[in-house]
Amino acid sequence: METPAPPGPLLVLGAGYAGLTVAQQVDRLARGSVPIVLVDRHPVHVLRTQLYEVGRLAAAGSPDSWTVPLARVFERSSVECREGTVEAIDLDARSVRLGDGTIRYGSLAVCLGSVAAYYGVPGASELTHQVYRLSGAIRLAGALREVEAGSSTLPGERRPRVVVVGGGSTGTELAAEIATSDWSQVTGGPARPPDVFLLAGALPFLDGLPPSLVRHARLLLRSAGVALVPGLNVTRVEAGRVHLEDGSVLAADLVVWCAGLEAPPLVRALGAPHGKGGRLAVDPTLEVPGRPGVFAVGDVAEVRDPSTGMLVPATAQAALAEARVAARNVIARSRGDPPVPFVYRERGVAVALGLGRGAAAIRHVTVWGSPAALLKRAVQREYARSVERGQPSTLL
Ligand SMILES: Cc1cc2nc3c(=O)[nH]c(=O)nc-3n(C[C@H](O)[C@H](O)[C@H](O)COP(=O)(O)OP(=O)(O)OC[C@H]3O[C@@H](n4cnc5c(N)ncnc54)[C@H](O)[C@@H]3O)c2cc1C
Repeated sequence: METPAPPGPLLVLGAGYAGLTVAQQVDRLARGSVPIVLVDRHPVHVLRTQLYEVGRLAAAGSPDSWTVPLARVFERSSVECREGTVEAIDLDARSVRLGDGTIRYGSLAVCLGSVAAYYGVPGASELTHQVYRLSGAIRLAGALREVEAGSSTLPGERRPRVVVVGGGSTGTELAAEIATSDWSQVTGGPARPPDVFLLAGALPFLDGLPPSLVRHARLLLRSAGVALVPGLNVTRVEAGRVHLEDGSVLAADLVVWCAGLEAPPLVRALGAPHGKGGRLAVDPTLEVPGRPGVFAVGDVAEVRDPSTGMLVPATAQAALAEARVAARNVIARSRGDPPVPFVYRERGVAVALGLGRGAAAIRHVTVWGSPAALLKRAVQREYARSVERGQPSTLL
């Protein structure tokens, strides 16, 4: 018999991909017998995997299509949704401080996601945009609309110039979207397509993705009109200028930072083992070491697959898979049963590359062009619909 988690509700911090799924699955598996409180600073679940769609966001005028109200997701469940900002977690006292009070828990799922990592690059946090949060994507959409409606601020430049920093999936999808969006439709007047530069940095372009996908992505990115600059890290950002490590300087109307993620500050401050970027280095059962019944799930966690020894990627797909196992283990802990280890199996990966095109790899098969974009869209739609119905997604 394992040590059961102390009595008290399951407190889930964060209603993103990980937290929403933990809450849903525990509610389903325990049939309402485990009290669940889900806390998020927003009353909505943000479809974060779609936040690169800044052209569509600029045209839409409202961000509603990128969110699902939590009240709708949990209307037929016993999950209590509470809007609030988590300020501190006390693992010894088993309590969490919110802006408006303190909650005590029996079990805890920390699912607070990730924030942009600026690696100490001067000017990066103050002078760049980001699409890691909905508020950032909305701000970027507005700034792009303005730049497109007006003239470029760069002397001698005819077209606006956007520099995207970071050659992972987010930077790549964003660069392609900006380069191929119909800006005349967005501004309702004449607009010039921007020149878009994608600075991939010192890491290989689309690092970690299958080589055949990367090859097709490179070609499609070029046909989308994006200039890919490999091999150089950014050393400094100034108003309207990006400095590269070879001493060159790139002028820019807008700079977007997609160069990486780290754990939120309150998680980094937690007295628990940390991994890369301050993520919580969890046991194979997804529990914080030495804290039975305290789980970290999704981007906030550093998870090592015991079968391969590899780190699990920080993706929504992995967050959902981890959440399903964490939910089983929450129940196991509440009953004094042994928790099970998490084993990661990637279902596939798809990258959107503008103009209704993309590149995807499912197991060992690569598809590209419109079939890949359609596949990505179908997975995103299925996920959003499942969430709206309060049901688990079967594709993501
Ligand atoms: C543009 C973009 C495209 C992407 N595309 C893909 C893709 O195609 N496929 C894929 O698998 N992954 C993709 N990802 C990655 C994916 O979005 C993340 O891995 C995923 O969101 C992680 O889920 P999470 O639940 O850990 O974090 P999140 O989804 O970020 O959820 C964290 C939640 O915690 C809440 N929160 C944070 N701090 C506090 C606080 N202090 N108080 C209260 N609430 C708080 C937030 O409001 C949020 O709801 C993409 C990411 C981006 C940015």
